[in-house]
Amino acid sequence: ARSLTIGLIPADGIGREVIPAARQVLEALPKDALPAKLDFLDLDAGFEYFQKNGVALPEETLAALKDKCDGALFGAVSSPSHKVAGYSSPIVGLRKKMDLYANVRPVISGAAATASGEKRAIDMLIIRENTECLYIKEEEQGSDAQGKFAVAKRRISEFASRRAGEMAFSMALQRDAMRQQLPLAERTWKSRPKVTIVHKSNVLSVTDGLWRETVRGVYNGNELYKNNVDVEEQLVDSMVYRMFREPEAFDVVVAPNMYGDIISDGAAALVGSLGLVPSANVGDSFVVGEPVHGSAPDIAGKNIANPIAAIRSAAMLLERTGYGSAALAIYRAVDKVLEAGQIKTPDLGGKSTTNEVTDTICKLL
Ligand code: NAD
Ligand code: MN
Repeated sequence: ARSLTIGLIPADGIGREVIPAARQVLEALPKDALPAKLDFLDLDAGFEYFQKNGVALPEETLAALKDKCDGALFGAVSSPSHKVAGYSSPIVGLRKKMDLYANVRPVISGAAATASGEKRAIDMLIIRENTECLYIKEEEQGSDAQGKFAVAKRRISEFASRRAGEMAFSMALQRDAMRQQLPLAERTWKSRPKVTIVHKSNVLSVTDGLWRETVRGVYNGNELYKNNVDVEEQLVDSMVYRMFREPEAFDVVVAPNMYGDIISDGAAALVGSLGLVPSANVGDSFVVGEPVHGSAPDIAGKNIANPIAAIRSAAMLLERTGYGSAALAIYRAVDKVLEAGQIKTPDLGGKSTTNEVTDTICKLL
């Protein structure tokens, strides 16, 4: 039998509640759904770990991921809003050090109520460039006659933009292939696959200009993409506007790192909660599943965090490590619980605990 070793990095806050929930669901998968021996490796990282040990992403964690794991799950980190000497975000570091160059974020309305309570067919895939933009964190302080100022560098490279673009167009084709297997009436997206390129080239003509040209170049240089996928562009501010007015108008959305981060939290509101939206940090040889939400200190330690984002992230990890039918089993179990609408955490208007939601999903497997 094959085996699958998954590194678990809960890190801080509700990460410590939702990652164990995801593990419990993985362990509940029956053998015929997941034909592999599962092993877990508990790994350290986070702000609390930094406060005790002076390092947020220990070398041992990186080494274990590289040498022993087939993939990993990351919870969330409580990064402070002020500068702390010697600290830098372990998830940003992990993405860079493991070359996880794209953050793939599916936002699906499914059975969950939307923010407005209205049902809309949202089935969007946000591809967030994951290695550069403002996340290179090259900031400087200075002062002049008017007083203090600060400057941040923003890096956009042809290399990273091309990889993000390739991911977007190839995922657009993959999604289309999956949809073709459904009867037309059951497809949320009925037209040709579409990629929306997000930028702000009207202001940032050099950086976002390079991003836009490069992603367009990926499209124009590939007959398969040109013949099968539609492409459009949207300035990031009007992207937010359009996304709230007609979220069903988007298929795949590709954005530089910071815009991609912001758009995804907004999209999460459209489908009901940040607690529902998963992601996968994807590289050529490794994948780290990670809920889109943060460590949610306002609800941490109360057993009320919605575990579904983390559970779906675990399914994305399975999907990307070659266990598609196990992933599907998890997606279906989650959908059933959301459709029934009885067992839900407070973010969705319910009274259930993290454990109750997790146990219910496990029983359905
Ligand atoms: P957040 O995502 O932690 O929380 C935003 C809001 O959503 C809060 O009201 C929270 O209670 C709610 N929420 C989030 N996840 C939920 C879940 N699973 N179930 C129910 N409700 C949920 O964002 P924030 O409050 O801006 O940031 C808190 C901390 O998280 C900060 O220290 C920030 O640096 C960190 N953060 C980490 C990551 C990461 O690790 N990738 C991402 C974003 C924020
Ligand atoms: Mn975010």
